[in-house]
Amino acid sequence: MGDSLLKKEFRADDLQRIRNLITGHYGNSTRSQIGYTHREEFHKEGDVWEENGKTWTIKNGLKQSVSKLSGIRQALQMPLVCPKCGKALNTPLDKKMYPIHGFCFDCVIKMEEDLRKAGLYDAYEKQLMSGNIENFVQELKDRIQHISDMKIEYSSDQGELEDWGGMSREIIESLEQWANLLTEKLGNA
Ligand SMILES: [Zn+2]
Repeated sequence: MGDSLLKKEFRADDLQRIRNLITGHYGNSTRSQIGYTHREEFHKEGDVWEENGKTWTIKNGLKQSVSKLSGIRQALQMPLVCPKCGKALNTPLDKKMYPIHGFCFDCVIKMEEDLRKAGLYDAYEKQLMSGNIENFVQELKDRIQHISDMKIEYSSDQGELEDWGGMSREIIESLEQWANLLTEKLGNA
């Protein structure tokens, strides 16, 4: 006793144990009970989680199993052939390009050639690298519209003469096709 006891720092449950000894409540628990209550996890729109062996998500404010959402599955699916050229989508580069562009790697190369001719390649590369291909598609559409507007002006001024802003009609038509394919892909994503 004496000094050693005085120096000891008592914890709250030590004091309680002493009180219990004094009052004769030997069996009493000295610790306050920590309650473990069932905690419902909170999920918000778009969350995907596992529960009871199923994958769930919240869509339009409703909890539903992912298997019911064909949209998610469709987004992951890749067709057998390129929608632009009909070539089989089977190389690793095709598998990398299709989810981004909606067509095969060979078509991506052709599109990039057309974009270079139209002076749009740098803008495309920049937006692609920063993951904003939808911004680029809008830019591409605006450019096509602008060139088309110019064409109308020239043909009304100069009769039959067609001027597509220094580009061939073929390239403009090709650019329109790329823009449509990209838009379709973004719409499905
Ligand atoms: Zn293709």
